[in-house]
Amino acid sequence: MNNANTMNVLTNASANRINLLLILFLVWIASCSAFQKKPVGKKLPGLLGPGTTVHITPDDVWSRKQQDYTITLTLGEDGLPAHESIGIVNGSFIDRWKFSFASHWWGQEQPWQTTDEKKPNYVTATCSRQNVQLHLKVGEEGPQKPFVNTPNHFVRSIRERMRFVLELSADQTLRAGDTITLGWRHVQAPDYAMRYFFLPFRFSKLPELDRDLPIRKGNFYGLPSIRVKGRAAEYLHVTCRPLHAVDEQFSLNIAAIDKFGNLAEDFHGTVKLTTDCDSDVPQTVMFSKDDRGHKLIKNVQIHEAGWYRIKAEGNNVSGVSNYLVISKQQPFHRLYFGDMHVHTLDCDGTNDISEHYFYAPNVAGLDFGCVSPHAEYFGCRQAWVRYLKETTQANQPGRFVTFYGYEWAQEGHTNAYFLSEEEAVLIWGEKRMKARGYSEDNPSFRIGAKDERAFMDELEKLKRTRPLFTIAHIHSAYRDLRDSIHWLDEIYSIHKVGRDKRENRLRTNLQKGLRLGVVAGSDMHRLTMGHLCKEPGEIWPLGDRGHWDQAGGLQATFASDLTRKALYTGMKNRQTYGTTGARIVLLFNCNHSPMGSQIKSAQNTLPKFNLDVGGMADLSEVTICRFDGEKWSEPVTVDLNEKTTDRYSGSWEDTEFNQAGIYYVRVTQKDGHQAWSSPLWISK
Ligand SMILES: [Zn+2]
Ligand SMILES: [Zn+2]
Repeated sequence: MNNANTMNVLTNASANRINLLLILFLVWIASCSAFQKKPVGKKLPGLLGPGTTVHITPDDVWSRKQQDYTITLTLGEDGLPAHESIGIVNGSFIDRWKFSFASHWWGQEQPWQTTDEKKPNYVTATCSRQNVQLHLKVGEEGPQKPFVNTPNHFVRSIRERMRFVLELSADQTLRAGDTITLGWRHVQAPDYAMRYFFLPFRFSKLPELDRDLPIRKGNFYGLPSIRVKGRAAEYLHVTCRPLHAVDEQFSLNIAAIDKFGNLAEDFHGTVKLTTDCDSDVPQTVMFSKDDRGHKLIKNVQIHEAGWYRIKAEGNNVSGVSNYLVISKQQPFHRLYFGDMHVHTLDCDGTNDISEHYFYAPNVAGLDFGCVSPHAEYFGCRQAWVRYLKETTQANQPGRFVTFYGYEWAQEGHTNAYFLSEEEAVLIWGEKRMKARGYSEDNPSFRIGAKDERAFMDELEKLKRTRPLFTIAHIHSAYRDLRDSIHWLDEIYSIHKVGRDKRENRLRTNLQKGLRLGVVAGSDMHRLTMGHLCKEPGEIWPLGDRGHWDQAGGLQATFASDLTRKALYTGMKNRQTYGTTGARIVLLFNCNHSPMGSQIKSAQNTLPKFNLDVGGMADLSEVTICRFDGEKWSEPVTVDLNEKTTDRYSGSWEDTEFNQAGIYYVRVTQKDGHQAWSSPLWISK
């Protein structure tokens, strides 16, 4: 039995036990051997009638591969009455089923067609029963579904034959055991490696479909699917945590990446490691097929203080790590990279939560993160509880730390974060739901807030009994900004907002007296957390929606160790910075107080700043920005364009310091990547 080629979906509790055990076994095998943890899917509810099974072959392909597929439906005890229809929808943007993203359309504008056998996505149907005529029809795209996960949104559009539903019926009654075989030909797999789900159903079961829709409850793995895998490796992504002491052991993560930022799972062979210092870095590392394109190399040591990078090369690909800063003494803080802002299948994203929490540590080399679905989308308590449980499961202190969070979006967009399952409370925007005609959906598992002020008030109340905080993103209204819970400003994400505008917004809020640290995130809706695709908007344009994603940003946080508590403290102390996605190492302090600090300058001494930068590419500019109580200026601008260096180290004394000042740093690489530090607040 080849588990890679068969996905079996049972549709009724009465289905035979052996099959069920077999499926559980296959799912278990897949979860052990596949590159990621997969929750064991519940069986699909009776959407096809009792006992009906669906297989897709093959169910595992390379990105962009041309392939013919066979979808086999074996009818259960109800058979299929004459002229009754079976429908199949597929896509990745599964809750909306609107197929907005070209890369998810199986190479074409629509996933199926029945008119031209030479053209892509041609579908045929045959039946095991003799002399039966089968009829196939493809629905329209139709308008997008409403913005929230509410009753009937999906069923309504399917009933009206939208979302490119493939409709299948027979001219005579089919019986139990009859098989319908769909041929799906000349299909080009999408570029983006992920699992693409299919939902088969009987039109007569549409009311049940709405109530029992697996996706409403957050259960996707009960559906048949095709997993698209990354292509051949084009480079190695080499990551390590930057701050260590001499002779201290640390780990190095290496992942083979294809041209779309996907993990190149089939990469294998010998990789040579080099570094220009006295070290215990293994000279070679073997990638076997079982490594599936990524490897964590433990117990690496460097024996001398300094700034170093580790180079990996093999099989015609290579990569260089981020900077390592090796100090004689144990560093006071460690430096971790993460992303606190991504969306999922639970809302309007494309990936399941487990895909984010696989990719982030194992491929992108991130240390922490938060999957933060839109609050309004959790259609029922089950989906919210499932989200909380999966967040708990993915948390591995010391390796990868997760937070509980969601995005509250109405006038502005602000993410709320909690440190435990028990303490997380879901607050959603009532107005947004009402505006879209869904005021009836008010399940008791969450708290409604009428506007941003009410949302912040709720959080302030909750804060008395539990730790929590927020990060506002680039769409934030900022009408009611409170730095008591709102510590961090997201200066960069996938949204193409002018760089001056981002910085000006930060400056305006800082000069009002708010103590805001600086972070960046991705706000990724269609790729995974930390995804390495350089230009998603150019590779996968959104057509007439006129919104082009850029690469996601990263949040750097200084903390004593890799735990929720320590990261929370680091964020609360504003010991953070944001980058446009490059793992730039940025150390900025004043009289030994790190970025984020509020300090008093000693009598008759001028503030002295130390700045150390290790880029991922050559640097073009390093700038210190200052607010002197009246105006913003950039008293230090180091132009490095004439030089070829990814390192900068310098110090500066502010001789114009008067009563108080706010200072932050902007670093720009020649390749366009940037980093912004949190401010230092200095007063006399
Ligand atoms: Zn948003
Ligand atoms: Zn968002």
